[in-house]
Amino acid sequence: MSLSEITARIRAEELRSGRVPGCVNLIAVSKVQPLARVTAVLNEGHRLFGENRVQEAAGKWPALRKAYDGVQVHLLGPLQSNKLRQAMELFEAFHSVDRPKLAQGIARLAQELGHCPDLFLQVNTGEEPQKAGVLPAQADGFIAECRALDLPVVGLMCIPPADEEPTLHFALLRKIAARNDVAGLSMGMSDDFEKAIAMGATHVRVGSAIFGARAYD
Ligand SMILES: *Cc1c(COP(=O)(O)O)cnc(C)c1O
Repeated sequence: MSLSEITARIRAEELRSGRVPGCVNLIAVSKVQPLARVTAVLNEGHRLFGENRVQEAAGKWPALRKAYDGVQVHLLGPLQSNKLRQAMELFEAFHSVDRPKLAQGIARLAQELGHCPDLFLQVNTGEEPQKAGVLPAQADGFIAECRALDLPVVGLMCIPPADEEPTLHFALLRKIAARNDVAGLSMGMSDDFEKAIAMGATHVRVGSAIFGARAYD
């Protein structure tokens, strides 16, 4: 796979599912990838990337932002309170806001710094104990809580259970977003981004299908 193939498949699925052409944002998930693969995708003109860890992003993106105009990096992975200040400076968006304490910390720092990343609230649609995200039954309350803190809630995010049909989870996330007037839906990865687009994804997070398999050491 490559960036151009994935982009073509996204455009084709937008057409097939009656979505507005170009409405789906492709987040190229560059975590753990060798720098040469990341610069290759930058050189093809892509500018929106996703990372899982604050530390890894801090070692990579400040230099790349100097070399390439218009780069945007979204944090997809878990957010710890002790890394929050650094994360506020590194990312244009957080996709894993999942608890009131964290939301309160973001609000406090946003006041102090005068800016705030766009926020996606993570929903644990499969109610998996090991997974981050608020439970579906708590989502409405959490969205209201974040809004009461004046936080920029732009969307919801989910990672469906590995062994279940993702479409059911995408549909649940869409339903929660619709009843709360939340516009953005961050859902769909390498194996299921077309299904996510059919269910209304506005942001798909695609890693290995663009960059190749991740080599963890
Ligand atoms: C790694 C990761 C992705 C990308 O996964 P692929 O299967 O490589 O496309 C998407 N979202 C999150 C939250 C991730 O951690």
